[in-house]
Amino acid sequence: MSITERLYYTDPYTTDFTAEVIEVTRVGDALAAILNRTYFYPTSGGQPHDTGTLNGVPVTDVIVRESDGAVLHVLGGAIEPGPVVGRVEWVRRFDHMQHHTGQHVLSGAFERLAGAETVGFHMSPDSITIDLDQPALSQATLDAVEDLANQVVTEDRPVRAWFPSDDELPALNLRKVPEVEGKFRVVAVEDFDLCACGGTHVARTGEIGLIKILRTERRGDILRVEFRCGGRALRDYRAKNALLQQLAASLTTGMTEIPAVITKLREENKALQRELRALQSFALAHEAEQLRQAGEQVGAFTLVRAAFDGREPGEVRQLVQHLVARASTIALCVTAGHKGQLIAACADDVPLDMVAVLKRGLAIWGVERGGGRPTFAQGGGTAISLEQAQAALEAAADSVRQVAGQR
Ligand SMILES: [Zn+2]
Repeated sequence: MSITERLYYTDPYTTDFTAEVIEVTRVGDALAAILNRTYFYPTSGGQPHDTGTLNGVPVTDVIVRESDGAVLHVLGGAIEPGPVVGRVEWVRRFDHMQHHTGQHVLSGAFERLAGAETVGFHMSPDSITIDLDQPALSQATLDAVEDLANQVVTEDRPVRAWFPSDDELPALNLRKVPEVEGKFRVVAVEDFDLCACGGTHVARTGEIGLIKILRTERRGDILRVEFRCGGRALRDYRAKNALLQQLAASLTTGMTEIPAVITKLREENKALQRELRALQSFALAHEAEQLRQAGEQVGAFTLVRAAFDGREPGEVRQLVQHLVARASTIALCVTAGHKGQLIAACADDVPLDMVAVLKRGLAIWGVERGGGRPTFAQGGGTAISLEQAQAALEAAADSVRQVAGQR
C-alpha cells in the first residue's frame, strides 16, 4: 500500500489543498517532499506530471517511488516537515484531463469502427499520440473515427473512474486489461468505452472539446496517430487559419485557390528557367564570337584569352565549350576569386596537350591541383587575385605560342 493518499483518483478538479509533509528526501540535486495526501499527479501511464506549488515553493516534477509507491514532489526550493498548502497548476492539469479523456474516446472509436487496438499513448507539451496495432487506415476510416469521437463529445456523456471489486470485474468488458497485480482503476465513458487507467479525466465528454486528428505515421506494424483536443485543438486551428490567411494575402488569392496558384507559379518558374537558359546560351555564344574576333593568330591556330573576376565556374566552362566548338581554336580562360580557376581547352583538330599548357599556368600560382585530357584541362582552387590570374594566363599563352608557333 502506498504511503501517499492519491486524492486526484476520486477528484481531479480540486487544485488547492492542505496536507502534511511526512518526509523530505533528495532526488538528484533537488529536495523532494512526500505528503500524507496529494492532488499532484505523478508522471505515469503516458501522462506527464502536474506542476504547481507547496507552500509557494515550485513543484518541478512529480514521480512515484518504486519501493513503496510514495509520491515524490520534486521542489525548486526547501520545505520543512509539517503542515503544507498545495496548489496544482490548473491550466496544465485541465489540458491533460481533456487529452486523456479524448484519448479514451478516440481509442474507443478506433476499436469500434476499425477494430484497431491502442497499444501506446504519449503526451507531451508538443505532441499527443496514440499507437494503433494496424499499420494503415484509409482517410475515410480516419474521418469516420474522428466524426464518431466528436459525436461522443457532443452527447456529453458522463465519465466515471473507480476501483471495481473482484466480484464486479468479470462483468466489465474492458477494452484493455492491465498487466498489474492487485487492484486497478477503471475509467468508463458511459455506454461507449471502458478501460483501465490511472490518469486524470474530465467528468463529462463535453469538456473535452473538439477532437482533431492531425496526421498519421506508419512505424513498422504500428500506426502512430497524432491528435489534439480542446484548447490545444483551438490554438492549432487558430495558428493554421492565420497561416492560410497570410499565404492567401501574399498570393493575393482566396484560401481555397492556394494549391492551384502554387501549381501555376511552379509551372511559370520552370518555363522561365528554360527561357533563361536559352538566353544565357545565346549570350555566351555571342560573347564567344566577340572573344574569337579579338583572338591572336598563332601558326595555324586562333588563341583566345579571357580573364574574369569571380565569374560562376559553370558559365565559364560553357563559354569555353562555345569557343572550342569552332575548329583550330585554343581557349585559355582564368577566373580570379577565392577559388581561382584556370581552364585550357582546344578544338578536337588541334594536336596540342592542354594538360601541359595548364600546368605552365598553374606553376605561376604554385598550385599542382589540376588536370584533364589533351583537349580540356582545368585546375586551381585557391585564392587568386586578378593580377595573378593575368600572369597565369600569360604563362599559359606563352607555352601555346612556343609549341604552336613551330607547327
Ligand atoms: Zn485515462
